[in-house]
Amino acid sequence: MAQTLSAFTAPGRFWRGNLHTHSTRSDGVLAPEEVCRRYKAEGYDFLALTDHFIGQYGYPIVDTVPFRDADFTTIPGAELHSGAMANGELWHILAVGLPADFAPGNVPHFAPVAGQETGPEIAARAVAAGAFVAIAHPQWSGMTLADARSITAAHAVEIYNHGCAVGCDRADGFGIADLLLTEGRHLSMIATDDAHFSEPDHFGGWVMVKAAENTPEHLLAALKAGDFYSSQGPEIRSVRIEEKTVVVESSAVAAVIVQGAGSGAKAFHGQSMTRTVVPLDRLRGSPWVRVTVVDAAGKKAWSNPIMR
Ligand SMILES: [Zn+2]
Ligand SMILES: [Zn+2]
Repeated sequence: MAQTLSAFTAPGRFWRGNLHTHSTRSDGVLAPEEVCRRYKAEGYDFLALTDHFIGQYGYPIVDTVPFRDADFTTIPGAELHSGAMANGELWHILAVGLPADFAPGNVPHFAPVAGQETGPEIAARAVAAGAFVAIAHPQWSGMTLADARSITAAHAVEIYNHGCAVGCDRADGFGIADLLLTEGRHLSMIATDDAHFSEPDHFGGWVMVKAAENTPEHLLAALKAGDFYSSQGPEIRSVRIEEKTVVVESSAVAAVIVQGAGSGAKAFHGQSMTRTVVPLDRLRGSPWVRVTVVDAAGKKAWSNPIMR
């Protein structure tokens, strides 16, 4: 039986947004209003400002409502920190759709403090408060698989972080995400900027969210449902699994790569491909399948996984 990702069948259209951004309310360079202005000018439909939710910045959940207009919306959020990972460093957890009264913990600065809430606990509290939660930049953090596994409340893994790509060439989250998928976790995958505007760390990776309206409520529901894909440029228009193939429709691309558990993967190369049929025989038995497309400039887009 054919399987299709709901992002490509749900009603509405795709809205382009960045889910991870900083401002002068924490360690970013630009004021919130200017950050919003730049994203709107770049053609984004929405933005989540996610400043560091720690005491030295006054636990900011920045009010971005004044920067919305008919063509641009914002989702309130924060990058949450509390407790130590296995390497002793503080957790970084992205929470989009936080209420303004989300309670601070005891996180005075960027180092763990004895007795404070753990990473899994603050992630679960954010989900309970209505947020879409993602495990941020696993490679940059030096996160172990056991660390990632412990954030049981997360909806998603940040699989591409543009700031980490530009700043330290540690952008990847797929290593961890693919292992969690193989363990049976249902997770979606987001590309973000993590922009601070302190270096060329903006407009490099985003989500395309399928929703009926460009409102925080519709966008959040679609994010939680996994109705989106991630991109650096190319568009994915459909991903359909048939009995022995995956059919991928996209903007003109030079490669379509299908990935599954373990070493399972199959690439198909060409020129200006817009409908690509990839045989699934190298992925037989994989409990999940996902797709990468690559354009002639090397820019990629990534589908969410299809669980089989
Ligand atoms: Zn971070
Ligand atoms: Zn960040």
